[in-house]
Amino acid sequence: MEIDKVYEPQRFEPHWAQWWVESQTFRAEPHPDRHPREPYFSLAIPPPNVTGSLHMGHMFEHSIIDAQVRWRRMSGLNTLWLPGTDHAGIATQIMVERQLAEEGLTKRDLGRDAFEARVWKWKEENGGRIVEQMKRAGVSCDWSRERFTLDPGLSRAVREAFVRLYEKGLIYQGDYIVNWCPRCQTALSDLEAEPEERDEEFVYIKYGPLTLGTVRPETKLGDTALAVHPKDKRYAKYVGRTMEVPSVEGMITLRVVADKAVDPKFGTGVIKVTPGHDPVDFEIGQRHNLPVRTVIGFDGRMTEAAGKYAGLDRFECRKRIVEDMKALGLIDRIEPYHHTVKVCYRCRTVVEPLISRQWYVRIKPLALPAIKAVRAGRIKIVPKTWVKNYYHWMENIRDWCISRQLWWGHRIPVWYCDADRSVHVSRKDLTACPKCKGPVRQDPDVLDTWFSSGLWPFSTLGWPRKTPELKIFYPTSCLVTGFDILFFWVARMAMLGLKFMRQVPFRHVYIHALVRDAEGQKMSKSKGNVIDPLSVMDKYGTDALRFTLAALAVQGRDIRIAEERIEGYRNFANKIWNAARLVLTNLDGYDPALARRGTPAVGDRWIASRLAEAVQRVRTALDAYRFNEAASAVYQFVWNEFCDWYLEIAKLSLYQQEDPIRRAFTQKMLVETLEATLRLLHPFMPFITEEIWQRLPHDGPSIMIAAFPKAERTGRDRQAERQMQPVLDTVSATRTVRSESRIPPSATVKVFIRPASERSAKAVEHGAAIIASLSKSQVTIVRGGPLPPRSAIVATPSGDVAVPLEGLVDFEAERKRLSREIERAVKEIAFLEGKLGRRDFVERAPREVVGRERERLAEQRQIREKLSASLVALES
Ligand SMILES: [Zn+2]
Ligand SMILES: [Zn+2]
Repeated sequence: MEIDKVYEPQRFEPHWAQWWVESQTFRAEPHPDRHPREPYFSLAIPPPNVTGSLHMGHMFEHSIIDAQVRWRRMSGLNTLWLPGTDHAGIATQIMVERQLAEEGLTKRDLGRDAFEARVWKWKEENGGRIVEQMKRAGVSCDWSRERFTLDPGLSRAVREAFVRLYEKGLIYQGDYIVNWCPRCQTALSDLEAEPEERDEEFVYIKYGPLTLGTVRPETKLGDTALAVHPKDKRYAKYVGRTMEVPSVEGMITLRVVADKAVDPKFGTGVIKVTPGHDPVDFEIGQRHNLPVRTVIGFDGRMTEAAGKYAGLDRFECRKRIVEDMKALGLIDRIEPYHHTVKVCYRCRTVVEPLISRQWYVRIKPLALPAIKAVRAGRIKIVPKTWVKNYYHWMENIRDWCISRQLWWGHRIPVWYCDADRSVHVSRKDLTACPKCKGPVRQDPDVLDTWFSSGLWPFSTLGWPRKTPELKIFYPTSCLVTGFDILFFWVARMAMLGLKFMRQVPFRHVYIHALVRDAEGQKMSKSKGNVIDPLSVMDKYGTDALRFTLAALAVQGRDIRIAEERIEGYRNFANKIWNAARLVLTNLDGYDPALARRGTPAVGDRWIASRLAEAVQRVRTALDAYRFNEAASAVYQFVWNEFCDWYLEIAKLSLYQQEDPIRRAFTQKMLVETLEATLRLLHPFMPFITEEIWQRLPHDGPSIMIAAFPKAERTGRDRQAERQMQPVLDTVSATRTVRSESRIPPSATVKVFIRPASERSAKAVEHGAAIIASLSKSQVTIVRGGPLPPRSAIVATPSGDVAVPLEGLVDFEAERKRLSREIERAVKEIAFLEGKLGRRDFVERAPREVVGRERERLAEQRQIREKLSASLVALES
């Protein structure tokens, strides 16, 4: 049983990462003869962008998913974690376009087919990077089922979905006002047009007798009406009239309409109606049959319809037109104006609302069942706080614009015949018009990336084919993802899953928070606060990073990651390693037959009971997606109970040569407890547990498919716990006195215990040898009567523990030291109280700083009390 002296994760992590993939221990089998209702656990990965590389957000998401997945797999469920990547329409296209630009080329120089080929080539060469990184991180996906949103199977699913929705009348093409990014040359969904605050000018323009304000004076050229609220008495006499008003283009004619969309309290209560360049105006125009004038083009420049301003950039035009109106006396006044504008989520260019021909999904009929599924509990969203957001968004949802003016993606399966103007939607590529056999051309646009990822939970399992995978693994058990894509992605999967599978795509949705730096700042390259998971893995080991992330995963709270935390959990891994070494190096002459003749001592029964408790806590926590609680339960058990107590207790029997049965039994307990502990820890620290487990007697090829410990089998042993507690309390109390009174480690102390009950007394008597050995002491039980004078006394739930200090410490020096330290603590307390008593500090300083100071104060007060108690004990 060889084991390296030093814990060096770099030496074995890459080996296991590769071995897990090669040995296919991750593989899930949809045996056709399996009962379709057999319990299973399945989950589709939120597909990372194929252009990406692993960042801390992925690492966090993958660590908590993997903990869940490994636990379910070890619990005996047929478990599938399906991996894959997303083609990421805009992101990938922009990246390849940038490469082309470096060669002095544009995508139009290449042409569509050559451009697409170029992107595919890029994907083949570089797209595997993130997948390799995930494998290195040890995520237990079934790599034999890896998918890509543009692979043939998924492309077939996308086309099938489009055709079916179209046939049901749920996809339509329409002139519609869309958010257009003139820089990316594509329409953006409502979600992709993000609000951004700006300081601009509110320009009050005279329209004959009326005056109105606007922030976008350049759109004035597209005005086709003026509008007021129907109940606004100030303007009632104008409604229905057509007015001739002077403008920069000479006299223009405008109708005045009454519409409820006008806010009478905003500005002057009159608005200009520009149906071609504003979504609200577009709708007013539809209601009043107003003509549409498009004065700004898709390139963001003024069109021919803008007359003398044609060709100008829209913002340049804004300046020019204001100057011209000033010269003509058409401006009433200009006021500064703070408001939000919509910008492209990708390039931050101000979005231009423009009318264009786009494909839409009629969304209400899809949204209703998805709302119902959550209301009825068929989809459970955790934490619950997100349910409200989900309803709000789904109830106010607008038709989904699914066409994108890109070349990289699923091309819209629609063909046009110019000869007879027929339109054909087809599952198969068309080369000729089905009506006149003449030539056809395919729609140039591609589908929104979310259209394909919306099918992800079932397209990856083979849909529209009826596969065994679909039968066994759908609906998936859960989805773990960030709140930032709750609507982009989760809601769409819910709608499309219900539509095509008639069943929810997942039973649980666990929404996690974002990973931030130690100060709570978002990580970004420009701020220089990015922590790269791969270099952290190299430095501290993957297990330490994964455990840190699980420990930080508190529901509803941002994850603040600091390197010190990771270092701390590396120490935890190191502790486990040393514990394993202790066990493995003490198995000399281990004779299982001899061990079978032994019986458990109270310490053995106690550790088995504590293990059962830890197992129960981990299972309950993981079942509720409380990853931090699960991690904490494992940590406390491994560090405090197994390493700090049990190993120490076991050593006593181990070194007892005169009782070979006891020794053998202890060896058996150590091996078995360590082995079970590794299985408990495995979902959080897969590498170190595999590395050690392989050196212990075990069943099966990998710890990954060994059974998760069952709490029921061993069960709690409350009697053993009650019996051990006084022993542990006494040892802890004695150790505390030893360290606080600075008793030399070599000195043996006398310990007097006044037990709280007869049961405690018996327990202490029984455990006297353990107490003596673990705290280097001689134990005396005092039933009634005073405790010895000049002692340090510690009150514990099991009784009072007194350690006489006579002869162990230099009283005079100790008294001086204690007084000095009390004085220091008092000063510190006064300083902190003063600081926290100042209003300006408490109100103005960041909340974390105030919290930290409060913690420091509480700490110092505790220190003062302890020191005072020690001083009193010394003088009594
Ligand atoms: Zn853009
Ligand atoms: Zn035709």
